[in-house]
Amino acid sequence: MTRGAAVRDHCNLRVSLGAYVLDGVDAREREVLDAHLRDCSPCRMEVATLTPVARLLGRADPALVEALLPHPDDPTWTVPEPRHEGQPAARDVPRSR
Ligand SMILES: [Zn+2]
Repeated sequence: MTRGAAVRDHCNLRVSLGAYVLDGVDAREREVLDAHLRDCSPCRMEVATLTPVARLLGRADPALVEALLPHPDDPTWTVPEPRHEGQPAARDVPRSR
């Protein structure tokens, strides 16, 4: 595999790591991710970071989670903008005056 292909694989697979730790990938995806994780230290670090969060989510009280979710009719709630690696969150960017 060329370095460019490896970087593309890394970028494409990294977005699935959240689903991976939540057991939300099918057997084929898991096989591909397992193979990638053997060779990709940054993705292994990401899995190591996400795994405790996934375990905590499994212990969450569904009623408490429900209470924390915004009501669908709440006009103040918006979907956050997607954030890409290396890009600061919109709230971190100073606004020009
Ligand atoms: Zn990777």
